Amino acid sequence: MIQAPRGTFDILPESAARRKVVEEQAEKILSAAGYRRIETPAIEATELFARGVGEGTDIVRKEMYTFDDGGGRSLTLRPEGTAPVCRAYLEHGMHKLAQPVKLWYLSTFFRSEAPQRGRYRQFWQVGAEAIGSPAPETDAELIVLLAELLDGLGVRHDRLRLASLGTPATRAEYREELRRFLRAHEDELAEEVRNRIDLNPLRAFDADDRRTRAVMRDAPKLLDRLDPADAEHFAQVRALLDDAGISYELDPTLVRGLDYYTRTVFEFTSDELGAQSGVGGGGRYDGLIELLDGPATPAVGWAAGVERMLLVARDLAPRAELVDLFVALGQREATRAGFELAREARRAGLQAQLELAGRSLKGQLKHADRIGARFVAIVGNGNGRVSLKDMESGEQRELGPSDVIPAILRGGRL
Ligand code: AMP
Repeated sequence: MIQAPRGTFDILPESAARRKVVEEQAEKILSAAGYRRIETPAIEATELFARGVGEGTDIVRKEMYTFDDGGGRSLTLRPEGTAPVCRAYLEHGMHKLAQPVKLWYLSTFFRSEAPQRGRYRQFWQVGAEAIGSPAPETDAELIVLLAELLDGLGVRHDRLRLASLGTPATRAEYREELRRFLRAHEDELAEEVRNRIDLNPLRAFDADDRRTRAVMRDAPKLLDRLDPADAEHFAQVRALLDDAGISYELDPTLVRGLDYYTRTVFEFTSDELGAQSGVGGGGRYDGLIELLDGPATPAVGWAAGVERMLLVARDLAPRAELVDLFVALGQREATRAGFELAREARRAGLQAQLELAGRSLKGQLKHADRIGARFVAIVGNGNGRVSLKDMESGEQRELGPSDVIPAILRGGRL
């Protein structure tokens, strides 16, 4: 039997209903704040991620599904949403619109990671991006919106980790300082960390190795090196979060896996998720649009994993699926009349299903009951009339074919 590839999964109807709740909640919360939906293609030029996500990141180094399109051009299945949204922003001249341009998406992403609970090779993210505003209110508002989305879905999150990465200049200086520190402790570091002192020294904070972690406790912290403007920006973000009653932990070791972040970075985590504890996170990326050949444009955004939210969502009750009418066939010859009745019912706004499996009349009624049909119309009982059965009261009436739908509309839940 052919199975879905490792690290991918099917979305069966039951889980589609739960996912729909996530989508509706995201739509409600984000559109109320003026975010509008955008969807970009699943494939992009590889260069977009090489430049936009960063050559030094795990994503670009080892997690991308990259292939030749047959014409010598390298394409990649999108591993994340921010770079594509920024590409679209530039490609469609959105920098000429009133700023910031506020966008959200709900799409699939692809990363070639070792699959485990909460970590897949094709997964879904809800994301939001506000492009064109440097204001700390934008950062705070986005964090509040993500908190609202998680709370609205009953997603248990234990912590909001918050930090500021400063501007590229501060970061470059800090990186040098950190490199010097790491080199001075080279003997005590895990090999993987040692090998990446030049490429990405910040990742040393993420290491699992015990001795490396001990060294890193005394490492210089970027939060202590912010320049006054960045420190002030961060203070304002924090004040707004305090006012909004959002609690957070300052985490000077918070390093997000993408190179493009500047200033604010944050991540909501849930311990219940185990090793993959990040539910959603993001930050400010003031340099990204310029990296993609656009004008200098400040921006901030986040993405939250749909599967991870669903794994820890508490009160996520999908609405029951409704069936207003089941059209049963008293005899085979009634197929055309039944087909027409079901079609008319749908045109009248009802949820209507037709018998499609050749069951006996008794079997059809049983089936109608199982799917929760409110009414059953039995066509083809020999006299040209339709028997309409109210499945709640058990009451049954004979009607002319054209009276069936009005009767349901009058007496049904509509
Ligand atoms: P990132 O772009 O890595 O910050 O990811 C944002 C969110 O997407 C994370 O917090 C996770 O909830 C989710 N996510 C990232 N990678 C995966 C994956 N491989 N499988 C499932 N969810 C993921």
